[in-house]
Amino acid sequence: MSYELAIVGAGPAGYSAGIYAVRSGIKTIIFDKGIGGGLASLAPKIENYAGFESIPGAELMEKMKKHASKYADIHFNEEVKRIEKSNEGFNVETIHEKYAVKAVILCTGTEHRKLEAPGEKEFYGKGVSYCATCDGYFFRNKKVAVIGGGNSAVIEAIFLKQIGCKEVYLIHRRDMLRAEKALEEEAREKQINILLNKIVEKIDGKEKVEQLNLRDTVNHETSDIQVDGVFISIGEKPQNGLAEQLKIKLDSNGYIVVDKQQRTNIRGVYAAGDITGGIRQIVTACAEGAIAGITAAEVLGKKYPY
Ligand code: NAP
Repeated sequence: MSYELAIVGAGPAGYSAGIYAVRSGIKTIIFDKGIGGGLASLAPKIENYAGFESIPGAELMEKMKKHASKYADIHFNEEVKRIEKSNEGFNVETIHEKYAVKAVILCTGTEHRKLEAPGEKEFYGKGVSYCATCDGYFFRNKKVAVIGGGNSAVIEAIFLKQIGCKEVYLIHRRDMLRAEKALEEEAREKQINILLNKIVEKIDGKEKVEQLNLRDTVNHETSDIQVDGVFISIGEKPQNGLAEQLKIKLDSNGYIVVDKQQRTNIRGVYAAGDITGGIRQIVTACAEGAIAGITAAEVLGKKYPY
């Protein structure tokens, strides 16, 4: 089977791009290095995607996968290692095969940022986690801390309390949370123990996490809290390796620069979703995917309606 368009990344942007591209008459393949869904599938619940008042991220992503599979071929567990410009378009080399296509849409998203604190690497999987939905269950009736002050951190803290963690600390480095006010209020109502102006100096324990050494950023005093688990939720960084290979223009934070039609500076390469930065919501990722999926028709000699 030959394809005209390769989409890299099967998250909301990739699925949406696939649906729109195939419906525009483009032979499309989607690659994902894992099982798809992206970071959205790790969200305990999503309450701001229109049409779904409250839905677990994994469930919403499963629905998108099923929908996109009706249209595009999707190869899971097939990581794209290299993309090179060719006379005809692009050669896309995955861990299994080489594909020649005319256009590429990068929907490679972001990955979890690391705290870079002593003990973080050592105790990964032994109390340190980057995903409350995945690992929270193991900490029911135990004490946990979530590090970060954004929406994700607050949602994870609420989720951990909800599934029965005995004590949940939310530890943030500044004097106010970055998260939406409504979420902060919910966290306070649910008796999340919010510690502000605190930096994690060390994640400590013997075989597994036992305590966090904290330093106050105002009075510089140090303190310890006893926890069994620590969930690090301090944002994401762009997965831009393929973009760098193609010499695609990135902004100062490493996100791909696109125009309103999701075009990059390389003709035939488009980008959509979290990899383009901005407010990084599921709804914006889907919208960008849709635009990229339609716009890609312009390099295929197909009708480009806008
Ligand atoms: P985020 O909004 O970028 O927040 C990251 C948090 O981690 C910030 O509070 C930041 O502190 C802190 N942080 C960063 N580096 C740190 C370090 N080295 N040490 C300690 N703390 C550190 O990330 P996010 O919460 O993952 O959200 C990502 C995007 O998805 C955002 O646009 C967010 O709005 C969106 N999102 C939306 C929802 C929703 O339901 N609407 C849910 C989840 C995510 P500072 O505040 O001091 O910078």
